This record gives sequence, structure tokens and C-alpha cells, in this order.
Amino acid sequence: MMPMVELNNLSVTYKTKQRHVTAVDRVSLTIDERDSIGIVGESGSGKSTLAMAILRLLPEQAAEVTGEVQFNGTDLLSLNESELARLRWTELAVVFQKSMSALSPVHRIGVQMSDIYRMHETKVSKREARSRMVALLHMVNLPERVYDLYPHELSGGMMQRVAIALSLMHQPKLLILDEATTALDVVTQGQILDEMLELERKLGITRIMITHDMSVVASACNKVAVMYAGRIVETGLVKQVLTHPLHPYTQGLLRSIPSFTGEKENVRGIPGSIPDLALLPTGCIFASRCDHAVELCRQVNPDETLFQQGHRVACHLVGGELAHAH
Ligand code: ATP
Ligand code: SF4
Ligand code: MG
Repeated sequence: MMPMVELNNLSVTYKTKQRHVTAVDRVSLTIDERDSIGIVGESGSGKSTLAMAILRLLPEQAAEVTGEVQFNGTDLLSLNESELARLRWTELAVVFQKSMSALSPVHRIGVQMSDIYRMHETKVSKREARSRMVALLHMVNLPERVYDLYPHELSGGMMQRVAIALSLMHQPKLLILDEATTALDVVTQGQILDEMLELERKLGITRIMITHDMSVVASACNKVAVMYAGRIVETGLVKQVLTHPLHPYTQGLLRSIPSFTGEKENVRGIPGSIPDLALLPTGCIFASRCDHAVELCRQVNPDETLFQQGHRVACHLVGGELAHAH
């Protein structure tokens, strides 16, 4: 399979006068065509920053981005604004948790959708745009009447469906969802995910899905990358990582979900919190919270090790000297 996205040593540092915060730290990742990869990790681990860096949506003055973002063989970080503008919407699309806040409250949903559509499809008449937008609404299971509603007249679930419809209007190749269904109740979230999966199959879309919810990854992704303090600590197929988690952080994340342990008594969060990203430790970033940490961990940052096909882990316990000692 062709790699669609290749991140090579991608780093993002937010720079203010007082602090330099490394929110994404030398991330390398390959995403194949038609993959659906979940990016998981607790709040502040750099998931949104990673997505914004791929989409080139970070403010250039405040955020220093280094490394490479290859998209179908083009380095997105070296494109100029007009080349980027062409790719956005038509090839790359994104849905945020509050995407709908980008819409004006005083205009009807459909009119705004049609206007956005006609910015790229300049030859399409208003009438034609309406029928295409109604078809798009149907695609995300919304009735035609939504076209004539105002944003405040929609429920949370309807809003996210409209946001997904908007993101799909030019049939993007890569879709990034950043906590796009997080605020919804479990039933609505489940329905929207099911619909998404079907649309993706139909349209051949590759998806990056940011979430802090492992159960969403389990049901809607084929691959997963676990992020901690700006680094990817474990990545692989969902079936590898969820059934055989190797990094102590991934193991902790999975233990904190009842459905994965089956025993409620064992459910617990991971004690402690993410280190200050402005003062990263020399050794393993997880050392301060890791039950297995030894002196080596505090001194040397573990390299990523390939455990088995596609399953990579950055931990001294796997593949390194400690593994042999165990
Ligand atoms: P969440 O799950 O809460 O959305 P996240 O994993 O998406 O978290 P990010 O929003 O990418 O995390 O933030 C990563 C780090 O970068 C955090 O420490 C955050 O405080 C910092 N950060 C994010 N945006 C900025 C900014 N514009 N300026 C400075 N620091 C920022
Ligand atoms: Fe824990 Fe050491 Fe592995 Fe880091 S390298 S996760 S501290 S065992
Ligand atoms: Mg985020």
C-alpha cells in the first residue's frame, strides 16, 4: 500500500518570551492510504498541535515547526499559501469539536454551505449548489429541512453531522477529526462513527482521528498512535496495541477503561501528570510516572524499537538493555 502521509522528525515548539513549549517532539509516523489511525493520549499531550502542524494551521510567528510532512509525495511544510489553499478542502479536510462555531449565527445553514461550496466550484449555479448540499446532508443522515435552519436550531449531534458534511463537500483524500464526536452522547457518537465508516469506504477516505477515548479507537480505527508529552510512545495496528500493549503508558491508559479490564476494581487512572513541556527531562518522558523506571530511564531517552511488523515502542523495557535484564 502507498504511504499517504509521512511525518519525519516533526517537531512543534510554541515560543513566547518567557517559555518555549515543545508540544510535538520528533514525531515520525507513516499513514497508508485508507488507514484510519487514532491518535490517543491525555489532555496536553500535543494531539491537536500535531493535527494543526499537518494542516499548516499553526500561527507561523508563535509556533516553530521543523521536520517534514509528506502528503502523497509533496512536502506540505514547503508549500506556499496558494498551493496550500488548493489542497485544503479539496484534498485535506478537518472537523474540530466546535467546527460549527465557524458558521455565522445569522444565516441559514444551507446558504452558508452553498457559499462555501461555490468558493471552489465557481461555475456551479445557486440552484445546483442547493441540490448538491441537500444530497450531502442526506449523506450524513440529515433531512432536507436542515438546509433552511439556523445554526442555533440544531442539536449537538446535528451540528457535528453538518460539520462532517462540510468537510466532505469536495471529497477530500485525508480527513482529520479532532475530538469531533467527543461532546456527543454515546449513542449519537456511535451512530455518527458508523456513518463515517460507511462513507469512508464509499469515498476511499484516509482518516486521522484524535481522541482521548480508547474505546473510540477500538471501534473506529485500524491503527493507533499513543502520544505522551509530545512524543509517540507506541504505535501499531489496533489489534496489536490493544491486545498486547507494550509501553507502560499505553498499559495504564487501557487499565483505566472498564471494558478493557472487565473488572471494575482494577480501573484506575495513571497517578501523576504530564511533565512541563518547557522543561522536558533528559531521559524517558514517562519516567516520573512509570512503575518500571530504573536509573537508565532517567538518563537516556529510549529510541523507538520495532517490536513486530509495524508495532513500534519507545521504552527501554522493549528491545533495549532492560528487556534482556528482565
Ligand atoms: P487536549 O486533549 O486537551 O485537546 P492536546 O493533546 O490536543 O490536548 P495540545 O492542544 O496540542 O494538546 O497542546 C499541547 C501543549 O501545547 C500543551 O502544553 C499546551 O498548553 C501547549 N499549547 C497549545 N497551544 C499553544 C499556544 N498557542 N501557545 C503556547 N502553548 C500552546
Ligand atoms: Fe518506564 Fe523506563 Fe519504559 Fe520509560 S523507558 S516507559 S521509564 S520502563
Ligand atoms: Mg486537543
